[in-house]
Amino acid sequence: MAIGVKVLDRPIEDVSYIRATLKGMGLTLKHLFQEKVTVQYPEQKWGISPRWRGTHRMLTTETGKAKCVACGLCPTVCPANCIKLVPGEDEQGNRYPLVFEIDEFRCIFCGYCQEVCPEEAIHVGRHYENSEYSRAGFVYDLERLTSQTHPVCEMWDPEDPKGE
Ligand code: SF4
Ligand code: SF4
Repeated sequence: MAIGVKVLDRPIEDVSYIRATLKGMGLTLKHLFQEKVTVQYPEQKWGISPRWRGTHRMLTTETGKAKCVACGLCPTVCPANCIKLVPGEDEQGNRYPLVFEIDEFRCIFCGYCQEVCPEEAIHVGRHYENSEYSRAGFVYDLERLTSQTHPVCEMWDPEDPKGE
């Protein structure tokens, strides 16, 4: 049986590349004059939420000592098991951390350590620029934690859920 071929004419506006090219150029031109939404990081930085939970910071007393009293609550509550604490005790029976380390690489930034700390010593911070060249560089010891200066996270307040 002979097979018939039916040739259909396509309208010129559907096959013209010129029309599509001009349309694309017009769209590009339109965006040239619109407000730019990209940020030229790291020269430019954007504001982060007061509730941002990032790099930890250990607050200190007026004498420069870490406020931590080595109670052991934060390593107990930490779901990522990334806080290492070795407690010590001075002659007056005051507890203090002999070793206090947080593995920032393992941390999931849940903020439980900040919430549970009775001394408001350890905080997650409003800071995210903590890249390193080595895995070991992400383990922050007490000296490094106390030397951080970035603002600390404002925890969620159930009485003010929208932070207003
Ligand atoms: S933010 Fe959460 S995961 Fe990170 S150290 Fe604190 S308790 Fe552990
Ligand atoms: S909860 Fe606070 S006081 Fe207790 S070990 Fe952790 S940082 Fe120190």
